[in-house]
Amino acid sequence: MFLARISLLLQPLVLLSWLASPASAYTALSDHFLKFVPSGGDDFDIENGKLLAPILIPRVPGTPGQLAAQEHFVNFFRNELPSWSVEWFNSTGKTPVTGDRDIPFQNLLFKREPPWVQEGQSNILTLVAHYDSKIAPEGFIGATDSAVPCAILMHVARTIDRFVTQMHDEMNALGEGGTVPMDMGIQILLLDGEEAFLQWTETDSLYGARALAEHWETSHFPANSFYKNPLDQISMFVLLDLLGSANPTVTSPFLPTHWAYRAMATIEQRMRQLNLLESNPKGPFLPDAEKDISSFGRGMVEDDHIPFMRRGVPILHLIATPFPSVWHTMSDDGAHLDMPTVRDWARIVTAFALEWLDMMEVEPKDEALEKT
Ligand SMILES: [Zn+2]
Repeated sequence: MFLARISLLLQPLVLLSWLASPASAYTALSDHFLKFVPSGGDDFDIENGKLLAPILIPRVPGTPGQLAAQEHFVNFFRNELPSWSVEWFNSTGKTPVTGDRDIPFQNLLFKREPPWVQEGQSNILTLVAHYDSKIAPEGFIGATDSAVPCAILMHVARTIDRFVTQMHDEMNALGEGGTVPMDMGIQILLLDGEEAFLQWTETDSLYGARALAEHWETSHFPANSFYKNPLDQISMFVLLDLLGSANPTVTSPFLPTHWAYRAMATIEQRMRQLNLLESNPKGPFLPDAEKDISSFGRGMVEDDHIPFMRRGVPILHLIATPFPSVWHTMSDDGAHLDMPTVRDWARIVTAFALEWLDMMEVEPKDEALEKT
């Protein structure tokens, strides 16, 4: 990603939409539920952890590392989360360093919607990370960039899965489905080709994200659908990037979605108060909950959200700024991760997803307080 200074010219419009936002469309998780939220534990181990270790390899588009990462993700969902659909979105592109050769950019889309919904009838929480790694320096692994975010999203998916099942079963039994606000889906997008091959420009970066956003913009649902296309369906595009180093600071750049940032910051605060987090950072990961309205709109980081944001999709960008000191160096590897921070992010993002999906409806009983 790339740090850019962009002033937003849409301030009055932005302010209006902020005031109109559904600030509390769901019930906050209880303390009891927060205590249940698992960290992923040894599955984030860098040597043999099930989620993370297999992708701590170079994952450059068009190389065997890309295929190995894809296999890891697809096998995980097919074997452990069979209720999720698996979809590929493939495109090809030329880059400034690979000449006339077409480089494959292959996004992976994992999705779970209520079983009764038709196409274009559910609102979809969308969790996103890029899985490619930078071509240079040779051997670059990109542990924070973005192997850890990918592994965290796998953990989120498997943790929420049984609650999603229970929710769907109960809604079905009570005949509650069929209204768009209640019919919530979730999808995980693992995007390819985020990194520039030579130097970050509009055309040398975000290969996978640009192709997908363009495609979705022109994929129209049937005329009587509630949403007009898959972009319209995204209730929030939550992008994770550069996470896994100690002492991260994730700011709130976008006023229209600041309410969602606050929801996550509140979860972090509550989990710290309840002693459910392991890390001991100098300050909160999400320090901007009380950010003043007048200080929005002064800069942002270019990342996979850009092609979606330009098309009106609401964005929650979880990226450490300043970037981790290992950023784009050979030191962005497993050994330089701070594991308590990784596991805390896994807890916070999982709790956020559970809360977003209104899972207090299916709060676990005491006997279910077993951690993964
Ligand atoms: Zn990067």
